[in-house]
Amino acid sequence: MNTVSTVWYTPVGDEVPFTARLQLLNHLITTSTLFEQLSSETAVTIKMHFGEEGNRGYVRPEMVSVITDAITARGGKTVVSDTNTLYRGRRTNSRDHLALAREHGFTDEAVHGRVEISDETIDDEVSSVPVEGGRFISTAKIIRRYREAPFLVGLAHFKGHIVAGFGGAIKNIGMGCATREGKLAQHASVAPYIIMRNCIGCGACSEVCPQDAIEIIEGKAILDPKKCIGCASCIAVCKSDAVELDWSGGRDYLPDKMVEYTSAVLGSPGTKCFINVATKITAECDCLAQDDPVIVPDVGFLISSDPVAIDQACYDLICRKAGGYDPFRKAHPGRDPLRQLDCAERMGLGSRTYELVTVR
Ligand code: SF4
Ligand code: SF4
Repeated sequence: MNTVSTVWYTPVGDEVPFTARLQLLNHLITTSTLFEQLSSETAVTIKMHFGEEGNRGYVRPEMVSVITDAITARGGKTVVSDTNTLYRGRRTNSRDHLALAREHGFTDEAVHGRVEISDETIDDEVSSVPVEGGRFISTAKIIRRYREAPFLVGLAHFKGHIVAGFGGAIKNIGMGCATREGKLAQHASVAPYIIMRNCIGCGACSEVCPQDAIEIIEGKAILDPKKCIGCASCIAVCKSDAVELDWSGGRDYLPDKMVEYTSAVLGSPGTKCFINVATKITAECDCLAQDDPVIVPDVGFLISSDPVAIDQACYDLICRKAGGYDPFRKAHPGRDPLRQLDCAERMGLGSRTYELVTVR
């Protein structure tokens, strides 16, 4: 028989003003009692997404400050953080990413905690974690901070995703806590390739490649896929958009790999708590560099200690709000949004069976 996990839920309709939303979120956190596990001086890490440039779906800094205040009131100290991306944009390196986070309002003063970008290029920031029962990932490369956090809060904006169907608690942890190499391992099963017409032969990719897999020949980068270990360093350094990935290479198994990475992050002794914000529900994820239109009216806030139950509950509530159909399947035909939940339950990350406690 499946375990039944508790998910606390506060309905928030489109008509609820922003300040009232902040009060509702605070009330939800208090009612759940999940933060009562905090003791004096507990180091808390909030993993979230600061939003790509032009995107407006990300969880707002004022909401983060409600969470950090609840942590501080119980004696905890909070770092609010995100990781750099695999794709090129304003979140590819720590300097640009932090500048963008500040433009989106994520300053230390606004979130009432320390805002940081977790960066694997800084020594000792990577944990290589064997994945027990992993079918696709034998060793996960994740940012040490998340794995070793005494108390980890996964704060996710729940929305659609082009490959996984949707992104919530599981995706925020599995993909979001991975190093760039880890993200590449989940997204693609092949080495990057060079777009010759864009390559200016600057050699930056060749210099950074740890495998000597790239040579500059007659002013162009030549990549040997047989030597490549998929560290993704070349993607990050190329300023000419000349290093590309076949994003479809590993897409069929991306949910499985994402879940295996989630298992590697969550398989540590620290306490875990998940908050899903199901408002401004869009078809695409917050990595999209534009303000994506809403596909379903606002649903509300959820909190749980079970990442599978909270995502399942969120998905069910959204389908109900949509009028009984699956808006993510409609937005991304051919993708199965439930696959990640199925894999996660099979790997023992949580339960798809939940009790929904409505908090008003
Ligand atoms: S960094 Fe980019 S532009 Fe420079 S050599 Fe490599 S692929 Fe070409
Ligand atoms: S992904 Fe890493 S190993 Fe592969 S070519 Fe690029 S820098 Fe070299």
